Amino acid sequence: SSSVPKIKSALVIGGCGSLGHYTVKQLLKLEPVPRVSVFDIQTGHNRVVGVEYYDVDITDKNQISSALNKARPEVIFHTASPPAGLSDLPLYMRVNVEGTRNLVGCARKLDVKAFVYTSSASVVHDSVSDMTEGDDSLPLLYLPDQTEIYSHSKAVADQLVLDANSTTPGGMLTTCIRPSMIFGEGDATTKALVERAAEGKYKWQIGNGKNLCDWTFNENVIHAQFLAAEALLNAHGQMLASEDMLVAGQGFIITNDEHISF
Ligand code: NAD
Repeated sequence: SSSVPKIKSALVIGGCGSLGHYTVKQLLKLEPVPRVSVFDIQTGHNRVVGVEYYDVDITDKNQISSALNKARPEVIFHTASPPAGLSDLPLYMRVNVEGTRNLVGCARKLDVKAFVYTSSASVVHDSVSDMTEGDDSLPLLYLPDQTEIYSHSKAVADQLVLDANSTTPGGMLTTCIRPSMIFGEGDATTKALVERAAEGKYKWQIGNGKNLCDWTFNENVIHAQFLAAEALLNAHGQMLASEDMLVAGQGFIITNDEHISF
């Protein structure tokens, strides 16, 4: 509706990655078209005309604050992360935890109104037990063991983003969006899955083959990010007990209507 605040300027952290690049393309479809900038460590690919690209490693506070001073976004969509499945706990902690802490700290100082973090549904799941009909009331799980180091770093980052939600008038409002595995145009996961299957690398099966696993359509993730940003913009500056205020400081699991058999 016309009362929904428009996103006038947005910064996509990790905007050269699968989800970030698609977020950039969807932002440019909004009316009126917002000013869009990107921070990434690989800005040589997935470039879109009209977008400002900054070579920024989020583990470096100085790089963040000097580029943020130029980009001056109203909204930040933080989608950067090392890929899942690496056995490098220090890298995950450095990028996902310290990098996110750096971003939140610099963004608060530069009057960013809304900060939307792409977390993961794995932050509420132990990766072993069955879980059906889970909802947003599930607590974050911290699993610092060697197999779930990616989810551990995402859970710590998710918590610090929610904790950064400001309760003072005019302060930065934050939300975490928690998708399951992402599929859709340009996604890297499905591509890798199909390639590995074509190479004959899937030779084992876990369980009876009827296990279910949730996947999230990338356009649903982006839609959720935009709805979250609009709600935070609407709530920003007004300390009202409005529905939009309920989005601030909260995490949301994003899924599709039906489970997809995996
Ligand atoms: P991706 O690997 O395609 O993109 C991530 C981007 O982040 C890359 O362009 C990379 O260069 C950038 N990046 C990495 N380290 C950086 C750093 N130190 N500084 C700046 N930029 C850096 O990942 P994706 O699949 O698009 O995932 C996007 C987000 O969604 C991530 O936060 C991921 O944890 C989350 N997520 C992904 C999935 C999935 O299935 N792909 C599922 C749930 C959550």
